[in-house]
Amino acid sequence: MVDAHQTFVIIGAGLAGAKAAETLRAEGFTGRVILIGDELDHPYERPPLSKGFLTGSADRDSVFVQQPHWYADHDIELHLGQPVVHLDRAARTVRLGDGTALIYDKLLLATGSEPRRLDIPGTDLAGVHHLRRLAHAERLKHVLTSLGRENGHLVIAGAGWIGLEVAAAARGYGAEVTVVESAPTPLHTVLGPELGSVFTDLHTEHGVRFHFGARLTEITGQDGMVLAALTDDGEEHPAHDVLAAIGAAPRIALAEAAGLALAGPAAGGGIAVDTGLRTSDPDIFAAGDVANAEHPLLGGTLRVEHWANALNGGPAAARAMLGHEVSYDRVPYFFSDQYDLGMEFSGNAAPGSYDQVVCRGDVGKRQFIAFWLKDGRVLAGMNVNVWDVTEAIQHLIRSGQPVDPEALSDPKVPLGSLV
Ligand SMILES: Cc1cc2nc3c(=O)[nH]c(=O)nc-3n(C[C@H](O)[C@H](O)[C@H](O)COP(=O)(O)OP(=O)(O)OC[C@H]3O[C@@H](n4cnc5c(N)ncnc54)[C@H](O)[C@@H]3O)c2cc1C
Repeated sequence: MVDAHQTFVIIGAGLAGAKAAETLRAEGFTGRVILIGDELDHPYERPPLSKGFLTGSADRDSVFVQQPHWYADHDIELHLGQPVVHLDRAARTVRLGDGTALIYDKLLLATGSEPRRLDIPGTDLAGVHHLRRLAHAERLKHVLTSLGRENGHLVIAGAGWIGLEVAAAARGYGAEVTVVESAPTPLHTVLGPELGSVFTDLHTEHGVRFHFGARLTEITGQDGMVLAALTDDGEEHPAHDVLAAIGAAPRIALAEAAGLALAGPAAGGGIAVDTGLRTSDPDIFAAGDVANAEHPLLGGTLRVEHWANALNGGPAAARAMLGHEVSYDRVPYFFSDQYDLGMEFSGNAAPGSYDQVVCRGDVGKRQFIAFWLKDGRVLAGMNVNVWDVTEAIQHLIRSGQPVDPEALSDPKVPLGSLV
């Protein structure tokens, strides 16, 4: 039973927003919970959109965070297909696209991120795609099916996680795939040059063509149809469709217009929050992709665009809204599946932050764990087709203690014995 003594409003009905709403009720909050999303679909998880849902192994129903009736059953007032267009901090109100004004006591911004657009001629052609939403994935699945049937060509701009996962899905349908990437290896900013080659080899073996060190400069077409993608080294790549997978930008417009403190681009952008996910306004919190949080364990601030950060950050923000003492110190965690390669990545090892990479296991067979170290301390670890080691890897990262690189590389030495 809801009493109206307090109203908590959540903007963004993605994973972070839905999990925050769920946590407010689980923690016994009896006030109004209003969850607002600009998409028409109920809150869903995005990882399947470039994996199981796109390949056809997972059906549409499996992507939703909760069954549609769950929200009403838990007295969550869900507004779908409704953008919040204005935040008035002085009046403590948010205004929806249809003019409705809602008063809040506490507010959570869980507005996520949106795909970066290619700023080149030809991006308005019908065959140029992005992948963020369920509707995008439905369309892309349809596109990949016909490309596969007709031996068509897909050009993917960007060899990041989404670009590579879509490349794998597209090869599964039988489409011809070229990936254009300005860096010298895939996933360059996450894995560095040392481990990127694992993914180059994997995809090359599956028939993907890579074009590294180049950028798209134009997409040519006729009558709305894509014909080719041109790169800045003068190459012309045949294309029937193009996927722009060049990263995402945090959706900060509301926060910015409301004068909340933001993180600068060099720090990863997003809405600046403290370790309790509180913004520069004590009644407004941010979580998920859009939040750039002080990290109590790793030091400095971090904006994390990963599923686990939305899954755990939404609930952490909800507890902070309820007045609990929160210190959000999760080690960043990410996973990916491509063909028969499954991997998990924990920690953070931006280029320049580490001085050594140590592997245990068989890199050639793609069954190994890679560790990124600085002064002998583990900053990050990636397990590839090796399972149930995330806890041990995160323990090494959390300990901050130096480890013996030789012992780290030896599969016979239990990870748990290293610190
Ligand atoms: C295709 C794809 C595959 C991915 N795969 C993985 C993976 O394998 N592993 C992994 O760790 N991560 C993966 N991610 C990343 C992960 O999905 C995101 O980190 C996660 O979705 C972030 O959740 P969020 O709730 O912060 O934001 P979002 O999921 O972006 O949700 C935010 C919601 O807020 C809405 N919104 C924004 N502004 C407004 C407004 N003003 N008014 C109303 N609504 C608004 C948005 O439309 C959106 O629905 C993937 C992402 C994509 C797109």
